[in-house]
Amino acid sequence: MKKISESDGANNKRPSALIKGPDCQTKENGSIICTPVEYVKIGGALNPALMGVEQEGGYSMTDALQARVDHMLSQVVGIEHMPQDVVDSLRRIFLEGIESVLDKNDKIIALAEEAENNERDALTDALTNMPNRQAYNKAVAEYDNLLDSHENAQVSFLMLDIDHFKKVNDTHGHHSGDLVLQQFADILKSVTREDVQVFRFGGEEFAVLLPRVDTGIAKKIAERIRSAVEQYDFAINKEGDAIKCTCSVGVAMASHGGNVVDTQQMADESLYKAKHSGRNRVMVFGEAQVINFADLQRARG
Ligand code: GH3
Ligand code: MG
Ligand code: MG
Repeated sequence: MKKISESDGANNKRPSALIKGPDCQTKENGSIICTPVEYVKIGGALNPALMGVEQEGGYSMTDALQARVDHMLSQVVGIEHMPQDVVDSLRRIFLEGIESVLDKNDKIIALAEEAENNERDALTDALTNMPNRQAYNKAVAEYDNLLDSHENAQVSFLMLDIDHFKKVNDTHGHHSGDLVLQQFADILKSVTREDVQVFRFGGEEFAVLLPRVDTGIAKKIAERIRSAVEQYDFAINKEGDAIKCTCSVGVAMASHGGNVVDTQQMADESLYKAKHSGRNRVMVFGEAQVINFADLQRARG
């Protein structure tokens, strides 16, 4: 017997607020077998609302509803002894009750979907389609909980900033700058694993949160991103002109008892050092720094 699945068309309107009922089967007149799937409270009574009905063509919800109404009427009010017009009225009232519940549920579902979309928009950066600063603020609590509750917890933080990005805007225009930001975001997504959270912090700054990752691995990931960016040809217009860009990365890690905001500040500090020691490099918080004099001069010049 075919089971009703989420993908069945008849189930698209399944009201989520309905009460799940126990699984039972009722042999209905002839070949129809009804299976109450969900129940709804009407006038304080629990009534089957969504039914699976096995018929020649498979399952259908509307038919099931009708079949169940007849079946219920015969069971509850004794259909044989009732005038047909009374039976018809009862059936209509019952069906209308169900319809209005389904209708209300549709409205509730639509409102819930709208609220969900609004929240998603508020947490997404429109240019890169990436979680924004607000999404980051929301995620921080989750990571802090992890750091609080697990003795072996580790969360690494990468703070990334595109080098001399202002020059891209100044030389090629703001639109080209936007294209570079979009491609930079794509690189970040493609280089990191799916479970890694990447955020556009604002402007040309991005943050990556790496749960269960120590500084050694975090540095490797940061280096992979830096290298991918360095090698990438950033398209800046429809004609196919491309430019080169680099980025600097600050890395820091929090362990049990630490918190994300402090770690963010440490990563920021490392990023600042990466910028001031030549850019296009990864700097880990607390790691000894070897400064190349030529790089330093270039950074200052
Ligand atoms: P540094 O290597 O020190 O990071 O230099 P920088 O030029 O990258 O940094 P700076 O902070 O001087 O400039 C960042 C620029 O990013 C300035 C701002 O106009 C530009 N910017 C911020 N948001 C956007 C955006 O959404 N689109 C574009 N095209 N530019 C943006
Ligand atoms: Mg920059
Ligand atoms: Mg910046």
